[in-house]
Amino acid sequence: MKPSRSGDFGPASRVALDVARDTYRSISLYAPNRAPAAIDLSDNTNLWGVPPAALRAIADAALSTVTRYPALYAADVKQAIADYVGFTPDMVVTGCGSDDILDSTIRAFGEAGDTVAYPDPSFAMIPIFAQMNGLVSIPIPLTSSNDADVNGYVSANATISYLCSPNNPTGASFTRAAIEQVISSVSGIVVIDEAYAEFASWNCLDLLARYPHVVITRTLSKAFGLAGLRVGYAIGDPAVVAEIEKSRGPYKVNALAQRAAVAALTYDRTWVEEHVQEAVTNRDRLARALVAIGLAPMPSDSNFILVPVNDATEWDRRLRDHGIAVRPFNSLPNIGDALRISVGPWHMLEQCIDVLGSVAR
Ligand code: PMP
Repeated sequence: MKPSRSGDFGPASRVALDVARDTYRSISLYAPNRAPAAIDLSDNTNLWGVPPAALRAIADAALSTVTRYPALYAADVKQAIADYVGFTPDMVVTGCGSDDILDSTIRAFGEAGDTVAYPDPSFAMIPIFAQMNGLVSIPIPLTSSNDADVNGYVSANATISYLCSPNNPTGASFTRAAIEQVISSVSGIVVIDEAYAEFASWNCLDLLARYPHVVITRTLSKAFGLAGLRVGYAIGDPAVVAEIEKSRGPYKVNALAQRAAVAALTYDRTWVEEHVQEAVTNRDRLARALVAIGLAPMPSDSNFILVPVNDATEWDRRLRDHGIAVRPFNSLPNIGDALRISVGPWHMLEQCIDVLGSVAR
């Protein structure tokens, strides 16, 4: 395992950061003026709202929550996460969303010029975080069944191998066999992004006991409904997690977010489970409705569905005309154009299906 490069901000790093800033501005994700939609099914957040104990924790916060600094490394949040996932707090690191955790992990274990292997297609920020930290990203095309391609990861043998299960945007989990083969074949760190774990039929937590070079990243932005507060975390071997925390830096989870996160993880688990269950039911119902209008949704183990279409830009425009936002993708490898539709309360999905049905006709 490589040492972290904390403190290394020489001229080469500054050039890398300039390149990264330009990249970030040029991509479609950086869209500060994106028009709000009446029904927003574009970002896979919890469309049922904020869990009640979290909401109370924010409303009841003392003024000193705002005037004082928060806990440096969010110790109470770590403890609450540790209880939730069944590990000890020294195996947990928190961050400003799992974005921050992924970025910090790449920075902790990669030097400029090192490599990050990632499935293609997958979470769009990975090659950007790699570039922002001066690393070279290596896309590994998915297999024909949309699984992680073990051979691709083995021949890349990257400094950091990133897996995403369930994968965004395809929606399905990778197979356990593929994940374990990648883990046991590569020599660097393996990051498994489980942002959608709560919606999935299985997860990789049990692998942590056997593989100290594996880190699992998760978030309170999806099932827990706290995307705006930006709380993410990783679970892994204490030595690995400590390196991520060093490269992350202090105060990354603000005080209101810490309060809400602890409340949600402690008192809102039933609320979360009920809405996860409803999301899974609605997801399967949405898939059936899409088939009924002649579309071919891809199997999903998450709270969104990817559905291939002939011209994603045009379908997106028609939905937008009706005040509905989904996430369009153009020319995804092996898939082509597609729409990613977040699952929410049925009345929202119904309106989306109506418009899609009229476009399909
Ligand atoms: N990983 C995946 C796979 C995602 O889809 C997202 C958000 N869309 C993230 C990480 C980042 O989420 P956050 O920073 O809100 O935790």
